[in-house]
Amino acid sequence: MAKRVFNFYAGPATLPFSVIEKASQAAFEFQGLGLSILEISHRAKEFDQVIKEAQRDLKELMGLGDDYYVLFLQGGASLQFHMVPLNLRVAGKPLDYVNTGAWSKKAIKEAKLLGETRVVASSDDQNFSYIPSKIPVNPDASYLHITSNNTIFGTQFHTIPDTGDVPLIADMSSDMLCKQMDFNRFGLIYAGAQKNMGPAGVTIVVIRDDLVKRAADTTPTMLKYATHVGKESLFNTPPAFSVYVVGQVLKWIQEQGGLAAVEATNRKKAGLLYDALESMSDFYRPTVADKASRSWMNVTFRLPSEDLEKEFVKSALEQDMVGLKGHRDVGGIRASIYNAFPVEGVEKLVVFMKQFREKA
Ligand code: PMP
Repeated sequence: MAKRVFNFYAGPATLPFSVIEKASQAAFEFQGLGLSILEISHRAKEFDQVIKEAQRDLKELMGLGDDYYVLFLQGGASLQFHMVPLNLRVAGKPLDYVNTGAWSKKAIKEAKLLGETRVVASSDDQNFSYIPSKIPVNPDASYLHITSNNTIFGTQFHTIPDTGDVPLIADMSSDMLCKQMDFNRFGLIYAGAQKNMGPAGVTIVVIRDDLVKRAADTTPTMLKYATHVGKESLFNTPPAFSVYVVGQVLKWIQEQGGLAAVEATNRKKAGLLYDALESMSDFYRPTVADKASRSWMNVTFRLPSEDLEKEFVKSALEQDMVGLKGHRDVGGIRASIYNAFPVEGVEKLVVFMKQFREKA
């Protein structure tokens, strides 16, 4: 048994230990083939089964209809900031974005390179500490883009905007599969795997049929969704190991009881932590005051001084709780508690928070 600490890092993040064990085994020898998953040809029938199963399991977990495709791409969510506008812009129709923080801004920057871009709602006025409650939908837009969970600022959409006929696009890098949702309301969803779904190196894209062929013929082959849809994500060599691990994480979610079970655990974990913050509000201050905007994945808070925050991170580390330092744009503390983060880790943090406050 390996030593395990509680990993509060924002990503790459904690994975289910059972998945790590399976991945270690597969790295050693895959399916009795006499080779490792690290060595397998992406054209081997055994790998074909891995990728197809992962695609099927993801669609099943998300409850997606036959009109959706699952792609495993490279380049991170950051490349999707460019691929989305490149493929989905329609001549004369602006690109609409909601700006809820640093990652939204990066997506907006790429869109601006490619067409008229409108920020239809923003929480910039209060340092991104809330999710705008009204999202205006312009019927003339090519699409509307949201960042469903804001990893740095600790906010999350808990209501999906109704965009009517305008395709809704979401960067779900940091909350993909964290709860039940009507995923069929989205035109395209993308997520770097390394928070809720697996290791770094693979980006999941879920795209609806009608959007696949929007791209102009002049779009570079590798950057065109149609290329990857046409070849079922095997146009070129995929990151086989990362895809394998994502597949195992999907099976782990199924074993938990699917998204309903994962959601119940995530509610419990976030509830424990936010309740602790509320009950010790003389010492800890959540950076997201608006309860309806609080992220279940990244819980951000401040202490009375920066010195105390440094001391908090250091003392937590001594108790095997790593990665609690907040992002430099927000400061303070950030506890990232993604799907695979265990309830016991949150309980331990809460006990530690009480002790730390008493001692300070
Ligand atoms: N979007 C969000 C919401 C993120 O949290 C991150 C990574 N922290 C990214 C995009 C960028 O992802 P990648 O590193 O896979 O490009």
